[in-house]
Amino acid sequence: MIIMKFGGTSVQDAPSIERVTEIVRRRLDLQPAIVVSAMGKTTRNLLTAASFSADGKGREALVKLEEIHRYHFELARMLFPNVERSEAGVKLNNYLDELRKLFEGLSILRELTLRSQDKILSYGELMSTAIVAEAFRNRGIDAALLDAREFIITDERFTRAQPIEAFAYQKINEHVRPVIEAGRVPVIQGYIGSTRDGATTTLGFEGSDYSAVMIGAALEVDDVQIWKDVSGLMTADPEIFSGSRTVKTISFAEAAELTFFGAKVLHPSAIHPARVKKIPVHIFNSKKPDAIGTEISCHAAYGVNLIKSIAYKRPLCILNVFSNRTFSAYDFLKGVFDILDRERITPYIMATSEASVALAVSASENLEFLKDDLSHFGEVNVTNQKATVSLVGENLRTQRDFAVMAVQRLTGTAIDMIAHGASPINFTFVVDQQQVPEVIAKLHQAFFENLDPKIFE
Ligand code: ADP
Ligand code: MG
Repeated sequence: MIIMKFGGTSVQDAPSIERVTEIVRRRLDLQPAIVVSAMGKTTRNLLTAASFSADGKGREALVKLEEIHRYHFELARMLFPNVERSEAGVKLNNYLDELRKLFEGLSILRELTLRSQDKILSYGELMSTAIVAEAFRNRGIDAALLDAREFIITDERFTRAQPIEAFAYQKINEHVRPVIEAGRVPVIQGYIGSTRDGATTTLGFEGSDYSAVMIGAALEVDDVQIWKDVSGLMTADPEIFSGSRTVKTISFAEAAELTFFGAKVLHPSAIHPARVKKIPVHIFNSKKPDAIGTEISCHAAYGVNLIKSIAYKRPLCILNVFSNRTFSAYDFLKGVFDILDRERITPYIMATSEASVALAVSASENLEFLKDDLSHFGEVNVTNQKATVSLVGENLRTQRDFAVMAVQRLTGTAIDMIAHGASPINFTFVVDQQQVPEVIAKLHQAFFENLDPKIFE
């Protein structure tokens, strides 16, 4: 068995879905289960429409909703005949009715709770899987459309829910395994799940990858394939550095560091379940299905290049807390950590001194609360528009003077913070966010001038 997950760009139009169908068809003997995201920009469009409703702009909301509906219907029409009477067509119409009712509710309440947001966003995946399953059936693939909410059982943290592994694994085996064993191809929504009480939840940004890996780990499949519109995990984000190259092989540890520090190619939590079960994760390009892509596995490759990839995360804020010294150094740090725990904030990097601490946190966090809480301990300064840049590779373990080499390459760059040693395979520092492209270009040239052909393509 394998899992094949297709992201939003891989199913954004009819030709893309045709391509996906052929990619799946060629792997039918591997007994695939398919996980699909919402099509194109649907998640964002649904969110915009919902916000309109909650702001009392009912008309704009409905216009947006019609647009979403039309996009799906037109796409379906290019893929199979008699859309209105097809199973998918009936579903799409029902979903539209349900969404209209939900929007009416929002416009009365004039608020969009995280819980209703999850409910509304789930329709993106419900619509895309209905269409993909119908397209598969229409092309001779025996697809079975499943509802992920019956088995991706999560906690109640709406918009960033965590699957409850023990529960979810058991349910996945009950719902998905028999379908595959019957020779059919399950088509499953990524990103969405449900609480034990049946409320719809979502797993957070890029959560479909997480769904795919969870299902793969539960079924102990041979391979989890994440199909995207990029050629695997690359030496740097191709969106900001055009010279980036494919990393053919990377360890779970390296991939986990890279995704935590911003490599948007995978959901940061998606590595863990695969790592525990030692299931390889491949990243492939659905537009270039024969290209080699990336294998993430237990194997750590030590090539001639010191690093495998460069990640960045922005925008970040640096919070500096200067102790007012009414607390012991111990109580000061404990207090700061308690607040981070309460607000559920993970700093990307931190530094401490005799009576102060600096933390780099995501700018999307609720910083006003955090700042108020921290000011109990002393003066708090916030610096905005910062970014982390991370150099990651197993070779950092052995190259004792790596820090010196990295910093030498950054002459002329103002570095606000450095983290080295927390992980033996990661060197991270903070710069102004607008410097990120320039810094990455410099580092790419320094560390990837001659590529080891065993590791890079
Ligand atoms: P999906 O189709 O699954 O939603 P995305 O397009 O969201 O896929 O994810 C791939 C994106 O990740 C690319 O557009 C790319 O800009 C970004 N990215 C960031 N860092 C990297 C990296 N190191 N390698 C590949 N892609 C990266
Ligand atoms: Mg995406």
